[in-house]
Amino acid sequence: MDFKGQVAVITGGTRGIGKAIAESLAGKGVNLAVASRSEQDAREVASALSAQGVKALGMKLDVSRAEDVERVFEEVRKEFGRIDILVNNAGITKDGLLMRMSEEAWDSVMDINLKGAFLCTKEAIKDMARQRYGRIVNITSVAGFMGNPGQANYSASKAGIVGFTKTVAREYAGREVTANAVAPGFIETAMTEVLSEKIREEMKKLIPLGRFGSVGDIAQAVLFLAAPDSGYITGQVIHVNGGMYM
Ligand code: NDP
Repeated sequence: MDFKGQVAVITGGTRGIGKAIAESLAGKGVNLAVASRSEQDAREVASALSAQGVKALGMKLDVSRAEDVERVFEEVRKEFGRIDILVNNAGITKDGLLMRMSEEAWDSVMDINLKGAFLCTKEAIKDMARQRYGRIVNITSVAGFMGNPGQANYSASKAGIVGFTKTVAREYAGREVTANAVAPGFIETAMTEVLSEKIREEMKKLIPLGRFGSVGDIAQAVLFLAAPDSGYITGQVIHVNGGMYM
């Protein structure tokens, strides 16, 4: 896995899974930009990553806003001159049973989780197609495959990511750009710590390995797909879920 001289953009790289992905890539010497709605968080993470000896930018970005996305990618181009890896990780939940789910809850989850990946990929692909090299890794979810009560919006957005990934894979294979997805199961992060102890215990019973995953488990799969030597894998989903879905 020789990532020397490469540049990555990780959306939502300021905590949880995205931060672990950023740390793993930085550990391989990848220069990178981490971007989230909180500029302060992004800058703090970038300065910690710089201490690992790579160049790191921390930027304010709302992935659901086209003008924000264009600005951020323009800055990345100016700073680094190329984009080799895009990790579409930014995501939110706004749970509720279907009958009570507001239009706003549907739209905001779709806008961030699905449209956000579209907007960022549309920018990154310009550079990747031109340089005839790229690795796109999208973070989907086990919920996109199994469904989950209370997550009609979230599951739909994550299932959408899978179709999107396969289409990008087909459209840009001729340019040596791969597009794959990682589907985490239940991972210990801020997104899941809000769940009650009762739900957590019930979830554990559904996991053959009997435990929740760590952010490092996901970063490991992303690193594999983002590596230069993984160039013959495209349009695939790696499930990292302790056997919860197989
Ligand atoms: P966290 O809530 O811990 O982190 C989410 C990150 O995304 C933060 O950096 C957040 O920063 C950023 N973000 C949210 N909205 C936006 C936005 N509009 N624009 C830019 N950045 C944004 O989540 P996780 O680490 O748990 O999840 C990461 C990904 O993994 C998500 O796509 C999630 O759906 C997926 N996933 C997680 C699972 C889990 O069990 N944790 C299971 C399956 C999938 P800020 O709020 O400052 O913008």
